[in-house]
Amino acid sequence: MQYVIFDKKDKGRLVSRFGLGCMRLPKTKRRDGTEIIDEKESIRMIRHAIDSGVNYIDTAYIYPGSEEVVGKALADGYRQKVWLVTKSPVWEAKNKDDYEKLFIEQLERLKTDYIDIYLLHCLDGANWKHVKETGGLAFMESLKKKGKIGRIGFSFHADHELFVEIIDAYDWDMCMIQLNILDENHQAGIKGLRHAASKGIPVVIMEPLKGGLLGDNAPNEVKSLINGYTEKRSLAEWAFRWLYNLREATVIISGVSTMTQLEDNLSIFADAKPNSMSEQDMELVLKIKQIYDNKVRIGCSGCGYCLPCPAGINIPEVFKIYNDAYVFEDPNTGQTVYSMVIADSGHDASGCIACGHCEKHCPQELPIIETLKEAHSVLKA
Ligand code: SF4
Ligand code: SF4
Repeated sequence: MQYVIFDKKDKGRLVSRFGLGCMRLPKTKRRDGTEIIDEKESIRMIRHAIDSGVNYIDTAYIYPGSEEVVGKALADGYRQKVWLVTKSPVWEAKNKDDYEKLFIEQLERLKTDYIDIYLLHCLDGANWKHVKETGGLAFMESLKKKGKIGRIGFSFHADHELFVEIIDAYDWDMCMIQLNILDENHQAGIKGLRHAASKGIPVVIMEPLKGGLLGDNAPNEVKSLINGYTEKRSLAEWAFRWLYNLREATVIISGVSTMTQLEDNLSIFADAKPNSMSEQDMELVLKIKQIYDNKVRIGCSGCGYCLPCPAGINIPEVFKIYNDAYVFEDPNTGQTVYSMVIADSGHDASGCIACGHCEKHCPQELPIIETLKEAHSVLKA
């Protein structure tokens, strides 16, 4: 595992460049068919990551069941080995008392009395305004003064201009942005990364594989490109390397769902040094990006923040099927999968009543309603 100094506090405490994201922990099915976190496997994975040198564990109040499982995984001495990072669901708090209640609940779930880094979750224009109006930052400062949290940060999903406004508005201890080879100029973007770093603010990266889009299942043109290249690496490895090549990217969060993915990531991050990409490597990544840019219909990361939909539509699943139909140039399979997975559930995309709930909560600010119409017209055979 590669480590870097997080910041100038705590005599330069080291952090692993691979941070374990706990949003997509393994799931298991209940008898009634609903899914819950597979607690035993999740604990095994979290502890294996820590035993392998990962010391940055990222969770959030709104990841279902995640804080509770992380709390259990960090028993038996594991808590002392890691930076424990979680996020306050700011939109749920109307005043200081609400922020306090949420924080106490999080400490109970995580079975700890101290959070190393506490973030204002998912700042966009509306949430930032809300934080300012409800005293969110003053509350965070009071926690820091009492020694309940070590650092104050925020996670971000909006455009570059707002990112600069937020970064410049406060003396932040860190920030968390979405960045990957497809989002170089999207949201905070690489410009935002460099702006924060120029002020000495550590930047943690989320969505390195764009919600799995840059995973094993690559389009044929991408497979041919990477298979024909001198260095033999998977698409995921190229995507991670492009990120850890950036000196300003302090920690890169990967949200793993299986032990195999975790092992794969651990081996990729064994070599996670900045400035490790050659000019030819960068050209390869640029070509990969161009192929995806021409194929992807909607930049959905599969986060599920848009759910539940009152019309019962599984929005991320519809968008995955829609993207796959174009990425793999296989509309027939797309239509079959849509019919079996979405239409047969009785809640296809044509049932959208345009209530706007999903668009209000989508961190990518996607035109969900319009794109559902397009997807339905393409996928409904
Ligand atoms: S706008 Fe349509 S897709 Fe979005 S939550 Fe409402 S009904 Fe569901
Ligand atoms: S549509 Fe938006 S909120 Fe819903 S899963 Fe995709 S990125 Fe997340």
